[in-house]
Amino acid sequence: MNYINGEVNNSEVNSYPHLGLQHDDFRSAAHALVDRIIDYYGTLAERQTFPNVKPGFMRTLLPGQAPEEAENWPQVFSDVEKVIMKGSTHWNSAGFLAFFPCGTSYPALLGDLLSGAANPIGFSWASSPACTELETVMMDWLAKALNLPEFYLHNGIGPGGGVIEGLASEATLMTLSSARSKAIRTQLSLHPNQTHHDIAKRLVAYSSNLSNSSVEKAGKIALVHLKLLDADKDGSLRGETLLAAIEIDKKNGKIPIYVCASLGTTACCTFDDLTEVGPICEKEGMWLHVDAAYAGSALLCPEFQYIRKGLEFTTSFNFNPHKWMMVNYDCSALWFKNSSHAVNALNVDPIYLQHEEMGSAIDYMHWQIGLGRRFRAIKIWFVLRMVGLEGLRSHVRRGVAEAKHLEGLVKKDSRYEILFPVTLGLVCFRLKIETFDEEKTNELNRKVYEAIHADRRFFITPASVGGKFFIRIATGHVNCSTAKLDECWNVIQDVTENLLGSSPHLDEYTADCSR
Ligand SMILES: *Cc1c(COP(=O)(O)O)cnc(C)c1O
Repeated sequence: MNYINGEVNNSEVNSYPHLGLQHDDFRSAAHALVDRIIDYYGTLAERQTFPNVKPGFMRTLLPGQAPEEAENWPQVFSDVEKVIMKGSTHWNSAGFLAFFPCGTSYPALLGDLLSGAANPIGFSWASSPACTELETVMMDWLAKALNLPEFYLHNGIGPGGGVIEGLASEATLMTLSSARSKAIRTQLSLHPNQTHHDIAKRLVAYSSNLSNSSVEKAGKIALVHLKLLDADKDGSLRGETLLAAIEIDKKNGKIPIYVCASLGTTACCTFDDLTEVGPICEKEGMWLHVDAAYAGSALLCPEFQYIRKGLEFTTSFNFNPHKWMMVNYDCSALWFKNSSHAVNALNVDPIYLQHEEMGSAIDYMHWQIGLGRRFRAIKIWFVLRMVGLEGLRSHVRRGVAEAKHLEGLVKKDSRYEILFPVTLGLVCFRLKIETFDEEKTNELNRKVYEAIHADRRFFITPASVGGKFFIRIATGHVNCSTAKLDECWNVIQDVTENLLGSSPHLDEYTADCSR
């Protein structure tokens, strides 16, 4: 691998024709690309966040088939701006306030470059020992940085440990599949004359109606009936709701096996009550998975430790460093209290994957859905070392401070209302109409949202909870700032005034609507 170290001697140069480019050509292309990336980041503030293109725009810009003869890099490179940038939403531009942040950083990009260059597929320990070993150490570093329960550590007190999945969606599917398999094995040992199918059709799992759509999807893939229970008015899944559902299901011969609780829901960043849900899961022998895809990063800070209450009851825990921890996509950290439940669920050992260290080393292929896996630990390693935990904490704190700033602006304008507590970096608000007519309020807010989107300066996402349509603005993106939020708030106010006419009186708008 000495071409990575820059230690290529002249006799070796150009001796790798199978790399698609000669060494020297790669060197100049890559250097130019790095310069271009730096320029890109430097000019992101000026780029229009959301592109003005229509579906199918690219067909007219590209030939109908792949070229027969190789093209050179300058030709290809020149098309990046014309074809790709023309249709790109700039997730790191200052006007991107949609979804949740998708973090990135230069240390993470360096890690990704190196991982792509070495390109190991770390399915087993033996497939590339460094890949597995760095991952186990990084998962322990992260668990300690987030102050997770000690049972999640690889070198801790039990059979626990962490793994890097690609996505939170995979983590949910993985844990639900593990819970399903564990429950079927337990039931088969208790009732040996039943079949796998008899048991599988009785299994039931729960989550709240505010959990991410990927939770419902996991239920569909794992073929487990997943029930979405109502969150309370504060957006939290409560113990009594869960208990009531379990009792009815048990009466009907169902077997409750799993709860996916959210810390930081996608729509409104609310938190399920683990101190209530946890003891119920423990008593019922159910698996308690925590989806903290976004909010998990806040656990880096001592002042947000209060959201971890009840984590001692959990069976698995997941968060996405690729959201709020400056690691670029994709990277999702998952911990099992007892990893053998995952391994037992999905273990398959064909001879071509066996190796002499089996049993004494981790083979991460058993901890995930797929076989192959990227070397993602390296970007975590670079970020943790080059940003440091203090740097990451200030990154999180900046996002929260930005949200508090925007909350202050919204609160100052009596035409709007804040809908959920601004705990971390998400502000949910809407224009309100005093008539309590939800339909009209929703219609008005949809228009506000559409006008902001059509304006193109800011990219935000709406949501709907409990029949209320509202605007959600996420902060903490790489280029977010309070100045940019001021600008966004001005756009929102302008849009509102345009919609309501010169009169700021909402009653007149309402009267208008009813005509
Ligand atoms: C973003 C998000 C997800 C989905 O994350 P992926 O990594 O894209 O699967 C799941 N749950 C919550 C709470 C999220 O915010």
